[in-house]
Amino acid sequence: MRSPSLRDIPAVEAVLRDPAVQTLIAEWGRLAVRAAIREQQDELRTALRSGHAAPASAAGTARDLRRRLLLEGGRGPRPVFNLTGTVIHTNLGRASLPQPAIQSLANAARDPVDLEYDLAAGRRGHRDQHVTALLCGLTGAEAATVVNNNAAALMLVLNTLALEREVPVSRGELIEIGGSFRLPDIMARSGCRLREVGTTNRTHLDDYDQGITAQTGLLLKVHRSNYVVEGFTAEVDERQLAALARQHAVPLVVDLGSGALVDLERFGLPAEPTPMQSLGNGADLVTFSGDKLLGGPQAGIIVGRRSLVERLNANPMKRALRVDKLTLAALAEVLKLYTQPERLADELPVIRQLARKQPDIRDQADRLAPLLAARLPDFEVAATDMASQIGSGALPQTQVPSAGLRIAPVDGGNPDGKLARLTNALRALPRPVIGRVHQEQLWLDLRCLEDEAPFVDQLSALELAGQ
Ligand SMILES: *Cc1c(COP(=O)(O)O)cnc(C)c1O
Repeated sequence: MRSPSLRDIPAVEAVLRDPAVQTLIAEWGRLAVRAAIREQQDELRTALRSGHAAPASAAGTARDLRRRLLLEGGRGPRPVFNLTGTVIHTNLGRASLPQPAIQSLANAARDPVDLEYDLAAGRRGHRDQHVTALLCGLTGAEAATVVNNNAAALMLVLNTLALEREVPVSRGELIEIGGSFRLPDIMARSGCRLREVGTTNRTHLDDYDQGITAQTGLLLKVHRSNYVVEGFTAEVDERQLAALARQHAVPLVVDLGSGALVDLERFGLPAEPTPMQSLGNGADLVTFSGDKLLGGPQAGIIVGRRSLVERLNANPMKRALRVDKLTLAALAEVLKLYTQPERLADELPVIRQLARKQPDIRDQADRLAPLLAARLPDFEVAATDMASQIGSGALPQTQVPSAGLRIAPVDGGNPDGKLARLTNALRALPRPVIGRVHQEQLWLDLRCLEDEAPFVDQLSALELAGQ
């Protein structure tokens, strides 16, 4: 067969008339399909001009167009299967919400709500009113406020209480959480000056004491969410820091990161510090995320002393960082679940998934392995035990015993190429499947696969390029 040349590339309009492409247009719209055809043809042209063989994927088939459309989306965030083994996965949207929160969120999306309206008094209210009483009740704090996320919470606190002032932070706590959250940068943009105290591995009360000047705005303690300092180490605990802060009449702020509103040990998980503990230790304000271990929507929660929370609410930045009605609707329902902690293991997805027992997940892996093996003749599929992580900077060293599928290319051919074709095909499924590649194998941790029917149903659509 003659290899294709530039002249063989059909006109875009001709491709659009193809019946298979018409089906795609019905689903994705003409604009998106036209863009995908252009992209496909551009790739083909580049390949032909540089003398390379035409890439198999640019063969002008509707199948390749569908793959491009699926990957490029343009339809907003799409549901995927999180089989990465990281339960609270920032790139995959962190916590899944419980049913009452989803319902409440949908109601708030559809109808006008009493967001900033006091129904009892018949006059203007405050948007935080929907969650402050719950937050205070659950944490024992005097007051609470909510912003867009925990990074915003920290910015609001720093900008309100330490603008153009100094904030001493231990060198062992100058954290980076994911690419764009670096504590020194957040501090600079919040308008305060970082004053590093202590060393990377050891910081003493004396270091803080010497770091406090007439310029100090507050003391900040940051939870080491995603790393540990081991060996010859020392840090100052919250109680000591709180006493020092009081002595110098500056507030102590604790950034807990994830934070947990219940003792996780009751679900067989290791303990994570709680806002209640920090407040009990004398912290004046505590900040934490809504969508990490709390299991709610993206939000930054600040609890603590009333006089300080009032100052936060009076800062014009609060308006810029405030949350919308959808977040508040969902958050209120999640917090309500915490008032009946015995319901959490069944009804709050984050806790339910983290609490799933290994034998249960292993049974599921044993069930699914043959189904997947039947679709993947070039691979060996094995049900195996593995270890999940909690994720999002909670309990970085903790591994939770789990189980899943280990998929390895069988001998022959290029294993990396085979593995790439497999992961591409899984990502091109109607509901993409995201796993983890490690040691030239694909690992699908089934901890978060609570509803396996939709996973099994779409396996028949699995098509590996070149198979
Ligand atoms: C995760 C984390 C943050 C950032 O929280 P977001 O809700 O992602 O903005 C800040 N500080 C600590 C210690 C964290 O673990």
